[in-house]
Amino acid sequence: MSASDIEDVESFRLRARAWISEHLGPAGYADLHPFADTDEEELANANRDRALQRRLFDGGFAGICFPREYGGLGLTPAHQRAFNEELAGWEYPSRLAVPTFSPCTAVLLDFGTDEQKRRHIPRILKGEEVWCQFLSEPSGGSDVAGALTSAVRDGDGWILNGSKVWTSTAWWGDWALCLARTNWDVPKHQGLTVFMLPIQQSGIEIRRIERLNGSTESCEEFLTDVRVPDSDRIGAVDDGWTVGSRWMYHERVGHNSPYVTRPVTAFGAARRGSPAVRVAREAGLIADSAARGLIGESRMLQLVTESLLHRLASAGPGSNLGEHAAAVGRLFSGVSSVRRTSIAFELAGDIGAAWDEDEDGAAAECGMNFLMRQTTCIGGGTTEISRNVIAERLLGMPREPAPDRGVPFREVPRGPRQR
Ligand SMILES: Cc1cc2nc3c(=O)[nH]c(=O)nc-3n(C[C@H](O)[C@H](O)[C@H](O)COP(=O)(O)OP(=O)(O)OC[C@H]3O[C@@H](n4cnc5c(N)ncnc54)[C@H](O)[C@@H]3O)c2cc1C
Repeated sequence: MSASDIEDVESFRLRARAWISEHLGPAGYADLHPFADTDEEELANANRDRALQRRLFDGGFAGICFPREYGGLGLTPAHQRAFNEELAGWEYPSRLAVPTFSPCTAVLLDFGTDEQKRRHIPRILKGEEVWCQFLSEPSGGSDVAGALTSAVRDGDGWILNGSKVWTSTAWWGDWALCLARTNWDVPKHQGLTVFMLPIQQSGIEIRRIERLNGSTESCEEFLTDVRVPDSDRIGAVDDGWTVGSRWMYHERVGHNSPYVTRPVTAFGAARRGSPAVRVAREAGLIADSAARGLIGESRMLQLVTESLLHRLASAGPGSNLGEHAAAVGRLFSGVSSVRRTSIAFELAGDIGAAWDEDEDGAAAECGMNFLMRQTTCIGGGTTEISRNVIAERLLGMPREPAPDRGVPFREVPRGPRQR
């Protein structure tokens, strides 16, 4: 399709506006809260999101930046951005944004074979497949290349054994991207391979992990003799780090990926609005000058985060900013999120320490959000690792010492539980 065949962004925006107001409802509780209180409610939310994704597909608005041959619209990130701006205030398939569309489908687009893309991307765009990331392991999530899950060649397939952890939504997800070790006789980055596999199968035991806030969305998986056909390998054998590095890029871009449909407002702030304003109003502090200073700081951080992430995501991995620049956005969004959560907590006053969920409105969420604030510096790769990437890859500072560099992975010393 030539550039002149592409609908201009403003006409697309008007079409999207009309369609959204006719086919979607206003944003509700399920859009604003990532996890429900009970499994039944969460499954209902997941099914609602699958149905919403199908509605987008049937309406001709799914996969805006995905190639047409895989069921997408073949349009540009500017079209996706226009759609996301029009979506502000409306319901959307929030549980499918991350990790299904970014990083998982983005990785599939970058490295999958034509057959793999034709098999899966149309199903993803219709809400029929939800994807998860089998990346972190009990031995550590930061050292991604140190994966211990093994994949051993067996005829025309592979046998996988090992365990993965912290996998969001695995208990109801359909497919996973899985990083596994296929060669133990070369240094760690050179012996990895990426596979895709159905999650709900007998060789995979899934256990739920309860977080501090009571959510059991995170899962741990134990893989025992899981057979994966070679046709479900993504990228070349032992070249999983090439796939993995791009995977990290898409993970750091996350919700701001041009492959993700989610509401943003035209002036740069996320649709959820400023919790600081709502909390200050409820706490009777909206006219207080110190409180207004905090609200201003929170608002500024929100605007800068959104603009920075938009700029980095628009540049793409092939730009002169390069793939590693996504670490700048990852670091800033994590740190600024912690600060904004702390500001809301401060504004909430006593309610932040002891709250009544039914009576205390927006302020009631501040205490738990404060306790959970560090997760925004951990999920999607930690901010410490982003600092390393920025220092070493963008600023050219000396690399941190790594005793396992250049050593065959089999010979790298490991603790007794990591053999
Ligand atoms: C909300 C949430 C959702 C998640 N979803 C998924 C998912 O779907 N799939 C998945 O695979 N994982 C997921 N994770 C896991 C996440 O990717 C890991 O928790 C993260 O990569 C850190 O790994 P770890 O917890 O094992 O900590 P570790 O790697 O053990 O690190 C512990 C601490 O040491 C620091 N550290 C480690 N190495 C270095 C270093 N070289 N330099 C400086 N500091 C270092 C880390 O920054 C961290 O603070 C999720 C996590 C959260 C919080």
